[in-house]
Amino acid sequence: MNDLKFSTTNSDIAKLLEISGTLFDISAATSVLGWDQETYMPPKGVIHRGRQLATLSAVYHEKLTNPKVGQLLEKLESTKVSEFERFSLADRALIRETRREYDRAVKIPERLVREMAQVCSTGLETWKEARLKKDFSIFASSLQKIVALKKEEAGLLGFAKSPYDALLDEYEPGMTGEEIDRIFNPLRKEIVLLLNKIVESGKPVSEHFLKGKKYNFNKSRKITEKILEKIGYDFESGRQDVSTHPFTTNFGYADVRVTNRFAGNDLGSSIFSAIHEGGHALYELGIDEKIGDTTLAGGTSLGIHESQSRMWENFIGRSKEFWEYWTPYLKSQFKLQLQNVTPEKVYREINEVRPDFIRVEADEVTYNLHIILRFEIERDLIAGKVEVKDLPEVWNSKFKEMFGLVVPDDSQGVLQDIHWSQGSIGYFPTYTLGNLYSAQIYNTLSREIGGIGEHVSSGNFEPILHWLREKIHRFGGIYEPKELIKNVTGEALNPKYFVNYLNQKYSHLYDLT
Ligand code: MG
Repeated sequence: MNDLKFSTTNSDIAKLLEISGTLFDISAATSVLGWDQETYMPPKGVIHRGRQLATLSAVYHEKLTNPKVGQLLEKLESTKVSEFERFSLADRALIRETRREYDRAVKIPERLVREMAQVCSTGLETWKEARLKKDFSIFASSLQKIVALKKEEAGLLGFAKSPYDALLDEYEPGMTGEEIDRIFNPLRKEIVLLLNKIVESGKPVSEHFLKGKKYNFNKSRKITEKILEKIGYDFESGRQDVSTHPFTTNFGYADVRVTNRFAGNDLGSSIFSAIHEGGHALYELGIDEKIGDTTLAGGTSLGIHESQSRMWENFIGRSKEFWEYWTPYLKSQFKLQLQNVTPEKVYREINEVRPDFIRVEADEVTYNLHIILRFEIERDLIAGKVEVKDLPEVWNSKFKEMFGLVVPDDSQGVLQDIHWSQGSIGYFPTYTLGNLYSAQIYNTLSREIGGIGEHVSSGNFEPILHWLREKIHRFGGIYEPKELIKNVTGEALNPKYFVNYLNQKYSHLYDLT
């Protein structure tokens, strides 16, 4: 049942596997170039790199949209039911995923792909300038074009109810805007309720240790590597380099790399980035070799991927037990900066709740409000209910309503995120889905493993990683997210686990009744 082998004796499966392997190789090579561009490439290298990436992307598109791929898929899909059932789990998933990718590639004409690339390239530049000058109007006409092209794309891809669904489906297969709305609405109410109680509690803010002191680069880097290694990241199959924004990239199941940044005055930020990217990397390193180097060798969706990074970062990394284990080591490395610190003090510092303008700096309680706001706006944008020119006003009034704060300028409001300028519309909800999945999965994991607090406080992360590998990682893209979450936890996505987690943790931290 859980056999992840392909039926290579079937010549059609073998052919499909070969195509999938070639596509994987091209995309891995693309990732190597992208990784190099963000880490080691000298500035002038960009002259060549743009063309190299464009060439690889054209080769990929050509291989994928070859009519023979379509014919092969049709042949496999029209296999008699009795024979189709003999296909293995991996065969069926490979057919499904190749079909998904093939359809997307052939439905979108090259003209649209080129136009989108062009508009996004201008979009990125105007967005940067607009953000710098705190003036949305500089970016408005680019965004207008991007939205128009995304609507065209949605129309070509097809959708049951709303064009937004087609865009969302790219990042979270099987999810619809309506469903997100059904999940986000009650979630928003619960979070606002908790946030109000926290703000009213008037509890004094914590002392700051990890943030605001001077931290040496080499030692900080060593600490993050030690943490990565301890949670199970294998440096024989990966490395941590420096980039402007931390990310994870996959060249194959035995070479998954992470990056980090070291600001010098914010050790916490580097530590949590390491744990976050480490969580993504452990997922991809845990993929079963048998489906490695194929289209199935990535995570199954952005939401599930994010559940893995957030689980390590928040449920484990922001727990008191985690800091009971790590505080003594950190103190030994930074004697001066951390001489008065205790695990309890770190725990309070890293879980401080403060409504603020910037999403990427948000705490666990307010984070999802930032996402819900973006989801509502992009959904209405695609539905034509909101005009691009009105975005700052719409953003600011929603923000006031949700956070009780007045946005001082567009760079701290509608212009803060890069996503829309890159044509990534339908992406934001996956961050919150990741949080919700992680709470639900962590709930099952804690129940099944038992004594998880003791494991974490003694630095024993092996049982956690082992469980995640068995239940989630090894399957890669075999199961779609909805099926996976049901297999793992026994039920469909249920936000109550996340709400319970927040209420419990923060009622305790802020002495709420
Ligand atoms: Mg992430």
